[in-house]
Amino acid sequence: MNVGNCPECGRLYMKTTLGMCNDCYRLEEDNEKIVAEYVRDNPKCSVEAIHKATGIKEKTIFRMIKNGRFMDAGEISFPCESCGKPIYEGRLCDKCNTNFINQVKESDVARAAKTKEDEERRRRSGMYTKNMIR
Ligand SMILES: [Zn+2]
Ligand SMILES: [Zn+2]
Repeated sequence: MNVGNCPECGRLYMKTTLGMCNDCYRLEEDNEKIVAEYVRDNPKCSVEAIHKATGIKEKTIFRMIKNGRFMDAGEISFPCESCGKPIYEGRLCDKCNTNFINQVKESDVARAAKTKEDEERRRRSGMYTKNMIR
């Protein structure tokens, strides 16, 4: 049995592939219908515009985009997570994506150095604890 807290309302629920409890899922379905209708009338709009017009959580709209719900309904733009420029797919605009990849490369190098440092420290503290026990 797989029980967890519903990510939407926080109540305990039986985990299903829905990813939320039945009540929230039903509400979500209603919300999605409203959003889908709005998109049909406004095929080129932004998540922000949908949110303002319908009052539905941006999180819900993002999930619909991620699930490909608007693939043929229209082009929904949403802000780049880094600079806010409107984009149509992914999480970052091209420019920020390139920056991000460069940053990841850099932090990989930094992390490798840190891991070595940590190992060194652990080895030293390990010896220390052993001495203490004895
Ligand atoms: Zn719920
Ligand atoms: Zn950006």
